[in-house]
Amino acid sequence: MPNPPSRGLAVVTGASSGIGRAFAEELARHHYDLVVVARDAARLEDLAARLRDRRGVAVTVHPADLTQPEAVAALAARIAAEPRLALLVNNAGVATSGHFATLDIDREEAEIRLNVLALVRLTHAALPGMVERRAGGIINVASIAAFVPGPFAATYHATKAFVTSFSESLHEEVHSAGVTVQALCPGFTRTEFQMRAKISETAVPGPAWMSAEAVVRGSLRALDRRHAVYVPGMHYRLLMATSRVAPRTLVRRILTRVGRTAYLD
Ligand code: NAP
Repeated sequence: MPNPPSRGLAVVTGASSGIGRAFAEELARHHYDLVVVARDAARLEDLAARLRDRRGVAVTVHPADLTQPEAVAALAARIAAEPRLALLVNNAGVATSGHFATLDIDREEAEIRLNVLALVRLTHAALPGMVERRAGGIINVASIAAFVPGPFAATYHATKAFVTSFSESLHEEVHSAGVTVQALCPGFTRTEFQMRAKISETAVPGPAWMSAEAVVRGSLRALDRRHAVYVPGMHYRLLMATSRVAPRTLVRRILTRVGRTAYLD
């Protein structure tokens, strides 16, 4: 049987593992061609070969370290020149944890470059074409960390607050032009993230965890409904609603305790 027609091109950063890989797999299942981006070229090649075989979509591997301005500029140029761009998923992100005063400041800066600066530049490259075509979507992966302060993960929480605010504002600027910008704000999701960020997984109770696949499916459904902010999981939506009305001093005190257990022990 011939393959169904392509729905356009999706660019996914951080596609070598976790939520990004789940986005690539789900989008291939929905017949999007893909550009997959991360540092680990071998993992991207494996993914690309699997998606070409199983889904019959075109997949281009674009290895890049998005903390490096030249690498971001090269990817931005590719995105700006792509007339079929239907979706950009700015997913690549890292967290650092510990007492800010003692953390390696170069790693903190690299985290801001990846989580914030790369996302801003890639979004800027994607939007003009989408607005001109009056179609397209951008999913910026933030976190529930965006809504609350994060003692012992201060830079991470601040980067995600930026991503959420930035995405909501852009959504208002472009939604009348047929473009949706979504801040995706997951809670704890089983990926390589905790291991890389040295976050204790035992500090988080079992039922709180979500799968990357569930996060991605919910995000894409919310994109279809043109939601500017999407928090996957009813338990996290309730938690975020509670944190919004609770006194801020109480929220900070609780999160200091949580942070000590999750990030310092
Ligand atoms: P993950 O499994 O560690 O995946 C992170 C991805 O980012 C990998 O593909 C990694 O690939 C890529 N990446 C890291 N540094 C990079 C760099 N310098 N340049 C290019 N790509 C880079 O973690 P994940 O959970 O899927 O994280 C995806 C996003 O979800 C992040 O933005 C994270 O903040 C957010 N998030 C995660 C959770 C959670 O609990 N897992 C919760 C809320 C939000 P390479 O190493 O090959 O470069």
